[in-house]
Amino acid sequence: MARKFFVGGNWKCNGTIDHVKKIVTMLNESEVPSEDIVEVVVSPPFVFLPLVKALLRSDFAIAAQNCWVRRGGAFTGEISAEMLVNLGIPWVILGHSERRSLLGESNDFVADKVGYALSQGLMVIACVGETLEQREAGSTMDVVAAQTKAIAEKITHWTNIVLAYEPVWAIGTGKVATPAQAQEVHVGLRKWLSEYVSSEVASSTRIIYGGSVNAANCKELAAQPDVDGFLVGGASLKPEFVVIIKSAT
Ligand code: PGA
Repeated sequence: MARKFFVGGNWKCNGTIDHVKKIVTMLNESEVPSEDIVEVVVSPPFVFLPLVKALLRSDFAIAAQNCWVRRGGAFTGEISAEMLVNLGIPWVILGHSERRSLLGESNDFVADKVGYALSQGLMVIACVGETLEQREAGSTMDVVAAQTKAIAEKITHWTNIVLAYEPVWAIGTGKVATPAQAQEVHVGLRKWLSEYVSSEVASSTRIIYGGSVNAANCKELAAQPDVDGFLVGGASLKPEFVVIIKSAT
């Protein structure tokens, strides 16, 4: 089954109104392959979501970087899935390693968030990935399988999920996974999905790679048969993000 190439730009906790306007202008003026070829989703901080929604071209979509685990209410500082839906934001990134490690989000908590966000009609970029220590201990597949299993236990449909494999040691470090390393884990995840969910879900779910993706390394990574796109951090704030989008073809 054909999986449409997916390129997400995770702006993380960066930007000012002026900076955001500049990035959006750059994206709006870019020439990229059509929507049939590549799906582009940018993820600004919460406070800039309405601004980006107002200015961004309509063939690019928007993701929030997180949302609350259940229905909104007395949860100071949180943003609910319902609010994102109300704002017309179709996507949310969940389980990013920065939130898992810095804010202590467990596999189960992330999985609960994924389940709730999907139930509200959001589409989810769900992140998994091992630390350097875990890779060196040879437990990469066990770690990403456990993260994926937690999610699989909470959901019934995979249509609205993109799985992002982001090795923690490659995020923001300039140390990108080799194409072979990425391909190996993506194949492993697909096998896991095939065995524990279904072969249909395994062949249709997009598995994207994240971690120091840039203009120089994207083409070779994109050429891997099981790399269905990217989740881009640092480079998504720069003009080279357009080069990464173009690696779809
Ligand atoms: P990076 O971040 O591209 O800056 O390594 C990727 C991510 O955290 O999604």
